[in-house]
Amino acid sequence: MNTASPMTALKGVGDKTAALFHRVGVDTVGELLSYYPRTYDTYEKPVTFANLETDRVQAVTGFARRMPDSKKAGRLTVTTLTLEEFGMYLHLTWFNMPFLRNTIQPGGTYIFRGRIQKKKGRLLMEQPEIYSPADYERLLDTMQPIYGLTAGLSGKTVAKAVRQALEELSMEPEFLPEEIRREQELAEYNFALRSIHFPVKKEDLLPARRRLVFDEFFLFILALRQMREQTEQMENECPIREGAWAGRLLSSLPYALTGAQERVWQEIKADLAGGRVMNRLVQGDVGSGKTVVALLALLAAAESGYQGALMAPTEVLARQHAQSVEELLEGCGLELSTVLLTGSMTAKEKREAYERIRDGEAAIIIGTHALIQEKVEFHRLGLVVTDEQHRFGVRQRERLADKGLHPHVLVMSATPIPRTLAIILYGDLDISVIDEMPANRLPIKNCVVDESWRPNAYRFLEREIGAGHQAYIICPMVEENPELELENVVDYTEKLRKSLDPSIRIAYLHGKMKPAEKNEIMERFAAGEIQALVSTTVVEVGVNVPNATVMMVENAERFGLAQLHQLRGRVGRGKAQSYCIFLSGSDNKETKKRLEILNHSNDGFYIASEDLKLRGPGDLFGVRQSGLLEFKIGDVFTDAKILKEASEEAARLLKEDPELALPEHQALKKRLLAYREEGIRRMSL
Ligand code: ADP
Ligand code: MG
Repeated sequence: MNTASPMTALKGVGDKTAALFHRVGVDTVGELLSYYPRTYDTYEKPVTFANLETDRVQAVTGFARRMPDSKKAGRLTVTTLTLEEFGMYLHLTWFNMPFLRNTIQPGGTYIFRGRIQKKKGRLLMEQPEIYSPADYERLLDTMQPIYGLTAGLSGKTVAKAVRQALEELSMEPEFLPEEIRREQELAEYNFALRSIHFPVKKEDLLPARRRLVFDEFFLFILALRQMREQTEQMENECPIREGAWAGRLLSSLPYALTGAQERVWQEIKADLAGGRVMNRLVQGDVGSGKTVVALLALLAAAESGYQGALMAPTEVLARQHAQSVEELLEGCGLELSTVLLTGSMTAKEKREAYERIRDGEAAIIIGTHALIQEKVEFHRLGLVVTDEQHRFGVRQRERLADKGLHPHVLVMSATPIPRTLAIILYGDLDISVIDEMPANRLPIKNCVVDESWRPNAYRFLEREIGAGHQAYIICPMVEENPELELENVVDYTEKLRKSLDPSIRIAYLHGKMKPAEKNEIMERFAAGEIQALVSTTVVEVGVNVPNATVMMVENAERFGLAQLHQLRGRVGRGKAQSYCIFLSGSDNKETKKRLEILNHSNDGFYIASEDLKLRGPGDLFGVRQSGLLEFKIGDVFTDAKILKEASEEAARLLKEDPELALPEHQALKKRLLAYREEGIRRMSL
């Protein structure tokens, strides 16, 4: 067995379990080892009811006076048990676990453990874990890994597989040069790997994590440098000059470009016509108007006789782009043929799309990553634009280069990172920044309120919808339990229907819907047919429905600030005043402070830096920024210092040994190769 072995090489992992692992992005034993815990459970002593604190995971000793109650509520079976201690009450609730009526014996004493919440003045725990006092005693003070899961894949299964993999692969050779390890005071690789999954003591975690974060950044930067060298020498094979079309589009728009958009467009034009192939990142906060800039570049490419591709991270976004591109083209009277290519199209539709791409009929091709799959042959690809890059990965370029294509690349990102970090992270790209919002925008009005305010929020929604606008409602989060996501959305929607004016058209959206269903819902929402959209965070990236003016987020305390900022970016995209309501179920002080940052600023850069200050570096248990770039453990904000150190070490190393030819660098070279291969493989999934 080695790190490239498939998951089925592990004992007890058959095809079925392997398929579940595949769903969380784990296909090989090596990927399993870097499927790091999201956090850890520390089993602390049970507390008395008087010491319960909301929004914390705590354990209590509970005496079951009677059998739990169980009743149907919509699609859910709700099982409840109330505990009492010296006149204080704690209400326990489980969803879809009616069998607990047999598990919990009247007269028995149990340890219940879960997140403490307060609703309508009542203390409660949802989905608490249940232990016998003896079992809990054994867990006391240990740290157990918590892994990201999917329906059918339990934490136990993951932990068992990881344990086995660690045993079978014991003692991989250290691959970092001794010098770097000493200089940076980094833990040994095997120790780090073991400790991150199964820390023997809390003190081991920080050094273990630091080592793995360093590795991740270090390999990423080395790969990036190699790529940069390859692309820097690349001549511009597709010279693109601005003709008349971009100007036609501009004069047909109901607005003028902002100064920042104009400046970035100039930078792009210079690249497209220059001596070298373009590799440019356009950074701009949500709503700064990146799409139109991309479209200008696509038009220039088309007019110069090249095909241009626009890739989005999700189908919903791809479809939305396709639609707005068509509308804009129509608006300026250009008859260019566009083609949509996404994973959920039928085989026949795909074949037709391939055909039109191959014979060059398609001038602008819009799609998801299906666009760079084997089967797509381009007629004359000159420009690739990728939108919301943090969900996409830098590696599509390698894929295209494999096909002998060297198009210009434009990467659009709304991720607010400081320039110093951007230079490291996008070392292979030139950077443009759109640092100005369209002038017709009114700043979004925010409020952070507790749940008692919900009825007011609903009245407010009715008023906005009554005035012809639309609203998003982000559903409460079901922690650690993806299985409940669907029921939760359906359930919440039902409740909302009862609370809002019955004439309001409501629909819901969640991550497990088929792409075609999601598309349909989004299209109906965009067309104004749906007035209130209940959704999980699947709407967070890029969706553009300018008529939506309210974003209401339930359980705002459970989200990272960057993610909340993205969500908020879905409104305030048109002329009308927009509002964002963050509902928080927590009266925890720290949580309130975090949300206050959002309340007082609409500036992504500022929010990211304040969030960082509040959390401090190395905050192991903090809320992670949502899926930034492709890092599994490193967080470019909180680990900025490690990122800089890794970057310096990489530069030093490559200066000394650019080809990694020295004998002491062979282990590293091998590791880097594996890293790149994994990346390429992941891209083609
Ligand atoms: P993002 O940068 O988040 O991708 P979009 O490109 O989706 O933002 O643009 C957001 C909205 O702003 C769109 O409805 C777009 O038509 C509009 N828009 C873009 N540029 C301008 C501008 N200069 N003035 C006014 N509105 C603009
Ligand atoms: Mg966008």
